[in-house]
Amino acid sequence: MTANLEIDLAAIAANWRFLDASHPGETAAVLKADGYGLGAARMAPVLAAAGCRTFLTAHLDEAIALRPLLPHAAIAVLNGLYPHAAADFRAHGVLPVLGSLHDIALWRAQARAEGQALPAWLHLETGMHRLGLAEAEIDQLCADSSQLAGLRVDLVMTHLLAAEFPADAANARQRALFHALAARFPGARTSLANSSGMFLGPAFQSDLARPGAALYGVNPTPGRANPMRNVVRLLAPILQIHEIPAGEGVGYGWLWRAERPSRIATIGVGYADGYHRILTNQGHAIFDGTPIPLVGRVSMDLTTFDVTGVPAASPGDMLCLLGPLHGVDALAAEAGTNGYEILTSLGRRYQRHYTGA
Ligand SMILES: *Cc1c(COP(=O)(O)O)cnc(C)c1O
Repeated sequence: MTANLEIDLAAIAANWRFLDASHPGETAAVLKADGYGLGAARMAPVLAAAGCRTFLTAHLDEAIALRPLLPHAAIAVLNGLYPHAAADFRAHGVLPVLGSLHDIALWRAQARAEGQALPAWLHLETGMHRLGLAEAEIDQLCADSSQLAGLRVDLVMTHLLAAEFPADAANARQRALFHALAARFPGARTSLANSSGMFLGPAFQSDLARPGAALYGVNPTPGRANPMRNVVRLLAPILQIHEIPAGEGVGYGWLWRAERPSRIATIGVGYADGYHRILTNQGHAIFDGTPIPLVGRVSMDLTTFDVTGVPAASPGDMLCLLGPLHGVDALAAEAGTNGYEILTSLGRRYQRHYTGA
């Protein structure tokens, strides 16, 4: 018996509408990594029906897979253009976010080959130092108009490096640099905030917000109440219950030992399902509203919980590994990671059920 992963499409649409209503600009949806592991193809049409007109992926392949599902939307690829791919981008009506002078040269060559002007979205570097045009490169670009020949810069974007920490000085620094750099491209739309950036106040508004994680229920305001609706529920049936005396251990290496006579529930979920091994002796699940501790090693396909405190728990009953009472952020905290990694790790063996569409 495998676990059920329920993904609430109505909650995702509600989260998008909530974010979209929170600012005057347009709101995109980031669907990279298969929509943060939840199934981009299932979510894209639901988001489009909610009113989303711009979708972002990391890779061209991800964008191509979405194109038939989003016939009228703009789809852009955050990781930029790869060599020899410009014609493929064009054939599928996908925009690369140009992040280097080399990207720009390739896109310019494509415009020349087609004999027509092409729209261009530029990634401006403001502190992340991963992708984007640095200030000196922007100087170069603006000094020599031939570099943008045949390109119409429609949008400039940058990415915040610490938006989930409102007090971090990087936020104001990046915003100021972004506005200064964006002013070099008059007429271009601006795009600044990710999920957390949308909660940094009106100064961080732009023409196109780019939320990902918040759509999927991850708290964009860590340390404060989560303004987003819960999206995923992961329910695993109890396979067996073992009654063990005090002094006996559980699982590989007996990393947990019973201090009292205990009831141990085993579920068929393990680290091969993205239920991280580091949760060993750290994690919790919910049974009937009560948190129950994970005991012993998480193994590849099995994990054990101490259900001594919930005598009603029986084989076949469901333990809730992720849900409204124990969400992605709570599980992430127990696993020493963030909600993004919890979602993108969700395994392929779960029975996926999409609800609310
Ligand atoms: C992933 C990503 C986003 C979305 O970030 P969230 O924190 O998930 O909202 C936005 N912009 C860029 C450039 C990204 O890489």
